[in-house]
Amino acid sequence: MASKYQAPRGTFDVLPEAARSRARLERTAAEILTRAGYEPIATPMFEDTELFERGVGRSTDIVRKEMFTFEDKGGRSLTLRPEGTASVCRAYLEHGMHKLAQPVKLSYLGPFFRHERPQAGRYRQFHQLGVECIGTDSPLADVEVIMLLSDLLAELGVPGIELRLGSLGSLQARHDYLDALKAHLHAHEAELSSDVRERIDVNPLRAFDADDEGTRAVMESAPTIVERLEGEDAEHFAEVRALLDAAGVAYAVDSTLVRGLDYYTRTIFSFVCDRLGAQSEVGGGGRYDGLIEQLGGPPTAAIGWAAGIERILLALDEEAPGAGRDAFVAVAEAEQRQRAMVLVSELRHAGISAELDLAGRALKGQLKQADRIGARRVLILEADGGAQLRDMDSGEQRPVDPGNLVDEMTGGER
Ligand code: AMP
Repeated sequence: MASKYQAPRGTFDVLPEAARSRARLERTAAEILTRAGYEPIATPMFEDTELFERGVGRSTDIVRKEMFTFEDKGGRSLTLRPEGTASVCRAYLEHGMHKLAQPVKLSYLGPFFRHERPQAGRYRQFHQLGVECIGTDSPLADVEVIMLLSDLLAELGVPGIELRLGSLGSLQARHDYLDALKAHLHAHEAELSSDVRERIDVNPLRAFDADDEGTRAVMESAPTIVERLEGEDAEHFAEVRALLDAAGVAYAVDSTLVRGLDYYTRTIFSFVCDRLGAQSEVGGGGRYDGLIEQLGGPPTAAIGWAAGIERILLALDEEAPGAGRDAFVAVAEAEQRQRAMVLVSELRHAGISAELDLAGRALKGQLKQADRIGARRVLILEADGGAQLRDMDSGEQRPVDPGNLVDEMTGGER
């Protein structure tokens, strides 16, 4: 029966089958990140609106159009977090982590919120897994974080992945480049789409993302930042590439790579999957050497990435099979139910996954239910106090000692 209510536009329920795939992803990620020394951090689901305005950037699409912003009862402007880095940096400063040995390596996983037009792979509430390596400008850190995401995607078996790499240079170099890019766009204003034209001075980088022919033609001859890198920025980028080569990580330098957040400097990267449609990026990130200072902290170099859980799952296109159960405890007569409940509890305490019938089924129905949930063995408690053990694969059934059922199920190894 269809309910009168539905999940809000752009949101979804995670049903048990899909939850299993998520759990596998989360387990794999936790293993990989823990082995590399990235410790979990959790921050609130909402923050002061100004944190995102300053941290993500007022000119970005996220801040201009996509935030879920509301006023609380005290008249404060709050926003459901649209991304994780600004919050993690806020927490890093608030808890004095800049005084710890650097870098501080953190990871997070949770829901994020953007008021975007929903489509496959794009939701209003979605989940990101992310890492931040804060307090070092070493190219080793760039390569460490890039390899973590590349290892995770490989370990999960995500097909058709390509790593795109770019560099934006330092804040000053980026600033000078943006001036050059704006000049190029102004010189070709008439050929641009109205959307790009209106935002030349606000967000010229977005012109690289445009898909109308006029803008695309203008962008073919646009200056790129990678070709303009100089001095330490150029050296940093060369070092990152040399380290990736040494580690055997394949990548393609993409001089037109842009990301939707204002805070990036130097290295930026994006993992795209050719199995996904328009929303092909499974994860990406980069350096944000100026962000912590921007938020009121000391000058602090840092790098991180975020990956979309739903995008990874879409790319995998799988729902994990059920884990099955070790045992089902069935009763021949209703009077045995109490015994069954106690036994199931003992089995669970002994580390065995076990269930019993909760719906008042007759014995035949209980065996059917055991089969449905993938139970490997069924213990049948008989009316006379005896017990039978049935192997569900072979169908074999034998009497067992009713005084020793837990041992029987654990193989007596306890
Ligand atoms: P961003 O924070 O924009 O750099 O995005 C990082 C990753 O989060 C992307 O590569 C996507 O995998 C995922 N992502 C971003 N926005 C959405 C969205 N609206 N719905 C689902 N996934 C998203």
